[in-house]
Parts: sequence; C-alpha cells; structure tokens
Amino acid sequence: MRQLAEVDRDAIRIAQDPQFSRWVEQITATGGCAHPIHLTGSTTTRDGVTGEILHHYDTTNEPGERLLVRCRNRRATVCAPCSRLHAGDTFHLVRAGLVGGKNVPTDVRERPRLFITLTAPSFGPVHRITVDGARCRPRRNAGRCEHGAPVSCPAVHDAADPRIGQPLCPGCYDYPAHVLWHAHAGRLWKAFTDNLYNHLAARTGRTRTGLRRTVRISYAKVAEYQKRAAVHVHAVVRLDGARGPGDPPPAWASAEVLAAVVRTAAAAVHLRAGYSRALGEHDLSWGAELDARPLRAFGGREGLADDAVAAYVAKYVTKGAADTAIGLDHPITGPDDIPTGRLSAHVRTLIQTCWRLGGLPELELLRLRAWAHTLGYRGHILTKSRAYSTTYTALRAERAEYQGIATGAGLPDAPDIVTDAHWRYAGSGHTPGAALVAAGIADDLLRNREVARVALAERRADETAS
Ligand SMILES: [Zn+2]
Ligand SMILES: [Zn+2]
Ligand SMILES: [Zn+2]
Repeated sequence: MRQLAEVDRDAIRIAQDPQFSRWVEQITATGGCAHPIHLTGSTTTRDGVTGEILHHYDTTNEPGERLLVRCRNRRATVCAPCSRLHAGDTFHLVRAGLVGGKNVPTDVRERPRLFITLTAPSFGPVHRITVDGARCRPRRNAGRCEHGAPVSCPAVHDAADPRIGQPLCPGCYDYPAHVLWHAHAGRLWKAFTDNLYNHLAARTGRTRTGLRRTVRISYAKVAEYQKRAAVHVHAVVRLDGARGPGDPPPAWASAEVLAAVVRTAAAAVHLRAGYSRALGEHDLSWGAELDARPLRAFGGREGLADDAVAAYVAKYVTKGAADTAIGLDHPITGPDDIPTGRLSAHVRTLIQTCWRLGGLPELELLRLRAWAHTLGYRGHILTKSRAYSTTYTALRAERAEYQGIATGAGLPDAPDIVTDAHWRYAGSGHTPGAALVAAGIADDLLRNREVARVALAERRADETAS
C-alpha cells in the first residue's frame, strides 16, 4: 500500500511540472517506451557554403534538459512498446521479401518461395507433449539405463507438464553435443545455404559458377528455442534470378525443385568438430525433422499465406531465451551465478556445460562462457541475406523515429549541408510515477492503433462490397 502511494505521489509531482505537456510529447514520441534512453546535446545543420544555420535543436529547454529516445529492446518482457514496434518492423521486413513494397519489387510474389523449419538432431530422449491419449515414450520391458533411470515413459504429458523437454536420463543426455551444436549453428546454416547452390547445380546439370550466374537464393530466418532447449530455425527462402529481387529466375526454378533441394541440402550437412581427444569427435548435422512448405502462389489458393508467415516470423523476435525460461538475460560470471528456481535442471546443466567446456583452451574460439546464458548459441534472433528485402535501419528512417527534432530530418539532402551533432548519454529509465504515465500512454497508443486497424478493415470491406 505504501509503495503504491509513493508511485502516485511521484506521478502527481510529474503532472504538476510546468513542462509536463512537453514531457508527454516526448514519451508519446517514444511510443511509451518502458526504459527510454536519456540524451543531452545538440544538432546543428548549416549550409556549408554560406554558414547559415538551417536547423538547430538542443536539449536546454527540454524537461530535465533531456531528450528521451526509445530503448529499442526487441523483447516483450523488457519493453512491451518497443518490442511491439520491433515485431511490426520484422513483419514488414519479412513481408516485403514475400510480396514487395519498401523498395522491393512486387515481382517477388511470383518467385518460388518456401517457409522452412530446420531442427537440431536428438541429443538424447526427452519427455514430449502427447496428444489423443498417446504415451510419451512407451517401451514394454525396456528396463533401465546404466544410471538406473527407466528408458521408457508410459505417461501422458499435456502442454503445461513441467517434464516436457526434460531428458529421461540426464546422465545419458549428451550435453556437450547439444552445446557444441548450438555453438556451430551459424556454420551449420552457412553449410546448408552453400549446399542449396551445390545441389541445385547438380540437379540441373550446371556447374556451381554457372548456376550462380542464373539464380540467387535469399532468405530471412529466425531462431526459436524448443522445449528441449535446442534452437530450431524457421526461414523464408526465395529464389530469384542472379540479379536479385527484380530479376526472374529461369523457368525450371519452381517451388517444388527448391523444396526438394532444401531437403537434400540439409541432410548433406556434416561438420566435424574434433577439438581434442578428451572431447571426442562430434559429427554436427541438422535433425531429421524438417519442414519445407511452399507459400501460396500469387493469385493461388493453396499453400501458406504471405501475411500469416510474416506474422509467424515476427512473433519469434519478441521472445528471448529468457522469456521461455530457457536461458538468461545476461552473461553469467561463473558457475555459481545461475539463478535457482525459474530454470529447469536441464537448462541449468546446459549452462553449466557451457561454462565447463568454455574453460577448455581448444574451445576458446567458441566463447562458450560469454554465451553460456544463451546455451552456447551466438546467433542473432533474426538474420537475413542482403538481397532478401529492406533493413531495420530503412524501416526506422521511414518512420522518422526521432520525429525530426534531433536529426533535422526533412531538410533537403544537398551535398553542401553540414551537420554538427554532440550527444551524450545522460541515463535511462523512468521514475516509478513516470513509468505509470508512460505505461498509460503506451496503452492509449495501442488502443488507437487497434481502432485504426478496425477502421481500415471496415473501409476495405466497404470498398470490396461496392
Ligand atoms: Zn523501449
Ligand atoms: Zn515422459
Ligand atoms: Zn542414463
């Protein structure tokens, strides 16, 4: 109760500040960001020839002499408004690669396009979700492993069962292999995309160089942690002509050919990780579980819809390892720096394995200690090939994130214009009362957006009807 009163007092103090309305403007410009960055400084734009000042902005007259900008965190648990914005940007980025727009030609709609999922192989049996009365891992008279654990599981597990994803026997589970696989996920993907070209070349009787003169493969991919704490990859893959999105591929290049090649290319990936005798040799490959589905052809009825796929991919970028209680937000400082309670024994063992293996000189390059909190996976959540579509930077620029106040955006883009900017980090976050006001603004903005979306949908329906 006392805490609540303090928050209220703080909120009242803010509301009584003479600069309250300007402060609200700033918060609104950040979309109600929960942890804004505070900057002080100035930007001056001059005509380089005459020296005339064309635009000047500084924070002297701002509330607290500060400008607040978005934290831009992509994760919903850290900052809901920024994460929504990031998911929105991701949606547009992925969608533009599927249907065009944002400087991507609309011809991409007619290209062979797939939505694929590549998984990690098994590192040992884990409990799994059962459906329709099926059992987890039934094996009659299967006995026990050398650690004394049953090698079968006759139970049924619904989605909320905490055992899902946990190994039947932690002693039998190959933790080093799991961690090494994560540490090589980037190379496994690279080997897969290399194979796509090689296998397409072989299939169509061309040399690899010859093939690259006729086609280009573009992709956008997201990583997702499964219940067993292994990353799997969802990707949109598109086949263009060699010059990229505006260039049609040869007639033989169909979604079916691409799907067939995705399967053989993934199956053929084998990386040998033989770092030392003590660690043994590991053959790193993709799991047998693979999905490759064509997107609905332009004007067609079958296959996945562009918007659904873009929304699906965007959903994953707002989740971090920590949000699904798989991994942590921050790097750990040692094996004792793993919080108890929230993480499963399985995840804790994976983090500990990263720390232990990270101490081996032969694995130094994998930086397993620095990435123990993400279970050895060093990749980004979303990655895309250059030609796939637009960029986050372009999307932000289009939105004019700073509303032009700090950047002098909107000025003519002439070679003689000189911009002088001096900015300093002055802090971050909100006081408790400010956080309350910001959350209210974020809610309002969200509601306004929903109202606008409904209105747009109604207008479109009207247009279709008339
Ligand atoms: Zn934020
Ligand atoms: Zn089970
Ligand atoms: Zn065992």
